[in-house]
Amino acid sequence: MHLFKYLSNLVAMLVSVVTISACSSKQNSPNTNSAGVNYVVTVNQDDNRKIFVEANLQLVNDTLRMSQVMAEGAEDGYAGFVHDLQATDDKGNTVNVNKAGRNTWKVSKQVPALIHLRYYVQVGHDAVNWPVSGAFARAYATDKLVFFTGRTVFIAAQGNDSLKLLVKFNLPQNWQVITPYKEVPGQVNTFTADNLGYLWANGNMVGSCATKEIKIDELRVVFAGSDDMQESVDLMGNSLSKIVRGYSSALGGAPKGKLVILGSVASLMPGGETFNNSISMVFNSPPSMANKARWGYLIAHEAFHLWNGHTIEPADQPTVEWFVEGFTDYMSKLYAYRTGFTNQQDLFDQFAYSYGSYVASAGRVSLIDAGQDKGGNYSFIYGGGLTAAMALDIQCREATNNKAGFGEIMRRMYTDFGTTGKPYTYADIIKVCCEVAGKDLSSFFKDYVEGTKVIPLAEYCAKAGLVFANGQITQNPGISAAQAALLEGVLEK
Ligand SMILES: [Zn+2]
Repeated sequence: MHLFKYLSNLVAMLVSVVTISACSSKQNSPNTNSAGVNYVVTVNQDDNRKIFVEANLQLVNDTLRMSQVMAEGAEDGYAGFVHDLQATDDKGNTVNVNKAGRNTWKVSKQVPALIHLRYYVQVGHDAVNWPVSGAFARAYATDKLVFFTGRTVFIAAQGNDSLKLLVKFNLPQNWQVITPYKEVPGQVNTFTADNLGYLWANGNMVGSCATKEIKIDELRVVFAGSDDMQESVDLMGNSLSKIVRGYSSALGGAPKGKLVILGSVASLMPGGETFNNSISMVFNSPPSMANKARWGYLIAHEAFHLWNGHTIEPADQPTVEWFVEGFTDYMSKLYAYRTGFTNQQDLFDQFAYSYGSYVASAGRVSLIDAGQDKGGNYSFIYGGGLTAAMALDIQCREATNNKAGFGEIMRRMYTDFGTTGKPYTYADIIKVCCEVAGKDLSSFFKDYVEGTKVIPLAEYCAKAGLVFANGQITQNPGISAAQAALLEGVLEK
């Protein structure tokens, strides 16, 4: 594929589609330009729950599909929100499109062929009770904006997953789109996604938005929220800037590219979700200094997934959910403390609370197996993973005379798997931990990660001069010099 020529063709094709869309005509003729794929997304101010899509798709077989990822919980998957799906061929003749199972359609057309689709997605994902995460991981609308992940909106032709895609947003005046897709220079609201996976696994926000942009090394971070959130967006931007700089220096670099953080204040289930290069969050009240501990933790946790989960990528995620979530939790809590979001006792309370939620459901299933049902084992995975991270941090420091700990484990994971793009396995985590500690830690993994024994937090706390009793972690008044040095290493303030 000559990429440059291909892109030029797409841009040429796009210009004509945009012109048609701008007239908001219902009688668009299909675009017959070159073979390629593109989407035009139109949102109107008076009904921002309707996302209109026009797509030019290159059929390689007779199937159209939507993503199945995180679609459990909605009766007909994401396709249940698609309405008035119509298709025409390159001569403008109607093509029949018939539902053929969950999230798939069959097309009555000889292939290969270029097909033009028109449909709209009625955003009602915020009325569904999803089994894991909430509407912030799918789509929702408030008065002045609409948030949607690519997977809830874009229908694709099966078999074309690696094509670069061009997306144009057609928006009301004074509305903008905040998206991790790459800007096409010189083209308003026009973006490319490297492939279908990237198009689907990202969030977009369209509306009247407050924004703030920061840069850390090669990483550009854009914050956006509803237009009444400018203060919150500035505050979050400045705060995250410190945290992300901390992550970057701890791991020896930040992933390149653009990260967008899309937040709203809404009366929906609050929480956050991290996608490929975007983070979605819903708050019940505007983020401010008064409630900084809540949102500070959320953005710190989600931002670290950019390293742990998305750049340091697992070969088999369910077996390492405890690492993806728990080690992210440990890192984000440490950095919320190191950058002044929380104080030392808050941090100890958070560790003790996580341990409590882990112990409450420990003994039934191992950490390595718990990821098969992430929703059902949620607090066990997060709390158990965090406790494992803390125990390994202390063991590595103890074994290396406090020269290496959790930071070195994550740095090694980033160097070996993040920067190389090589997926890691459970065995790789053990290998890295043993190498950082300079000693065999495999029995720890056998007992507490593969097995169902409960990590004895009190024992590890004692090594760092801490006392864990009655569900609380406190500093031992009789702490020795060696214990104090180890604790200082863990806290690194
Ligand atoms: Zn997470």
